[in-house]
Amino acid sequence: MRIILMGPPGVGKGTQAVTLESHLNVPHVSTGDIFRALLRTEDPIGIEVRKYLDHGLLVPDELTNQVVTTRFREQDVHKGFIFDGYPRNVFQAESFDKFLKEHNWTIDAVVNIAAPDEDIIKRLSGRRVCPTCGKTYHLESNKPKVDTLCDVDQTPLIQREDDKPETIKKRLAIYHDQTKPLIEYYSKQGLVITIDGTGTIEKTHDLTIKALGEIK
Ligand code: AMP
Ligand code: ZN
Repeated sequence: MRIILMGPPGVGKGTQAVTLESHLNVPHVSTGDIFRALLRTEDPIGIEVRKYLDHGLLVPDELTNQVVTTRFREQDVHKGFIFDGYPRNVFQAESFDKFLKEHNWTIDAVVNIAAPDEDIIKRLSGRRVCPTCGKTYHLESNKPKVDTLCDVDQTPLIQREDDKPETIKKRLAIYHDQTKPLIEYYSKQGLVITIDGTGTIEKTHDLTIKALGEIK
């Protein structure tokens, strides 16, 4: 299956993608995770993208498309994928469509996880992340087992620079302005399934699985 997860930042795309990954047995590809992994290395691209990530701005399209193309050199995504955080604007969607066409691939569904801005602000401000392995938590709805330490490697969790209140507002504005038009873009291709993302992680997961089962 080839799926694109859409929805505002912090709606839980990443969390859903992880459970969907094992359910559908196709890899989860998050451009945000790829960029954050680059930040943790000395890679020159990491230095270049930090200024965008820390300020909640989109990384330039050329660079983003390049990172996606590089990811496709790995074979695992050839059997299917769950994209999370890409495409992020109409230019990226058009480039991605072209890329898919060249490979004779089609998207099965665009899963649009929806939640109002008030929910998003609450969720993003409670989000914490492990600087070592990248696993995300939430101070209320998805707490680590011990204090604020990562369950996997016991590293103290931190708040992402771009989850600070001023940056959240900017990211939401970019979402409304640039990413939301993609719902219309993919609706024209008959691909959009909208899921209520305001419930628990499990509830959203169940709704997603049910909706995907119906398109198979
Ligand atoms: P995310 O984890 O999806 O919220 O992504 C975190 C940050 O990575 C975003 O705020 C952007 O700076 C950058 N990023 C991730 N995906 C993209 C994309 N498709 N296009 C441009 N920038 C992106
Ligand atoms: Zn960790």
